[in-house]
Amino acid sequence: NADLAMYRAKEFGRNNLQVFTAEMAAKAHEKLQLQEALREAIARDEFILHFQPQMSLASGRIFAAEALLRWQHPQRGLISPATFIPLAEETGLIVPIGDWVLRAACRQAKAWQEAGLPPLIVSVNVSARQFRERNWAARVAAVLAETGLHARYLELELTESLIMQDLAGAIATMHELEAIGVHLAIDDFGTGYSSLSALKRFPVSRLKIDRSFVEDIPSDPDDEAITAGIISLAQKLGLRVIAEGVETEAQVEFLQKSGCDEIQGYFLSPPLSSRDFQALLQGCDADGV
Ligand code: C2E
Ligand code: MG
Ligand code: MG
Ligand code: MG
Repeated sequence: NADLAMYRAKEFGRNNLQVFTAEMAAKAHEKLQLQEALREAIARDEFILHFQPQMSLASGRIFAAEALLRWQHPQRGLISPATFIPLAEETGLIVPIGDWVLRAACRQAKAWQEAGLPPLIVSVNVSARQFRERNWAARVAAVLAETGLHARYLELELTESLIMQDLAGAIATMHELEAIGVHLAIDDFGTGYSSLSALKRFPVSRLKIDRSFVEDIPSDPDDEAITAGIISLAQKLGLRVIAEGVETEAQVEFLQKSGCDEIQGYFLSPPLSSRDFQALLQGCDADGV
């Protein structure tokens, strides 16, 4: 890749070559710096979780929260997971970071229960590298025991690509997790590659329809057809289905009409700090606690 960039740069002449290489060096340096900072971030207590509510369309009740990781970088401020998760995956740092996320999410869910809030399911994103760790299901069980959270209040979000990388191994781990009592969901459903015959074998309880299909509803009839198709597939397989990235009333109407069970998205609320999320649950003004 670097060679290709050089070759392209050469086509532009000598000065450009210098510009390109300086730029590339700066990029590489920045990445290295970020990687070093990421290595320190757990010890420095720089990670936080935000929580985004999920609502049942039938009851209007908030029954779950997705835990979404943020990095409070001392100089750069709040960094989104899209920026640092790929780097964390590349370096393997996602394993200790993912452990931190799982523990923090379980601890928070337990703390809300102890504060007297109605019990919620906390949903945690899992990366492939993490999922493939030896005895991962046992590690999940250990975190539940340590935090005192009952397994039925934890859901793990897996992607199709994670599962398809090693189908037999993934299904085995999923069965171990199912035996512990945690829920499993397929995140970003419809964007990955998984055959319907494979899907039938996944011990999952929910599909999360990817935001990209919901985005252009109601203006794009193809996206409406895909979304309605996923909903009816889920129903036929006996799975619950949630739409991600729901932003408008028109989308809610379409989803309701199509038989979607649940929604998540800015229409309800963006991801919130634990404090603001708790205030939302208690039905008071987020700033008024
Ligand atoms: P995801 O799991 O699909 O999470 C949903 C993303 O959509 C979140 O982005 C959320 O803030 C955003 N979102 C929710 N509702 C709306 C909406 O109505 N409109 C729009 N435009 N966006 C909405 P976020 O928090 O930036 O996370 C991005 C991705 O990073 C996540 O996608 C997930 O794949 C990954 N991620 C986040 N936290 C973790 C983590 O703890 N571990 C791992 N492995 N991955 C994580
Ligand atoms: Mg997710
Ligand atoms: Mg998603
Ligand atoms: Mg995702």
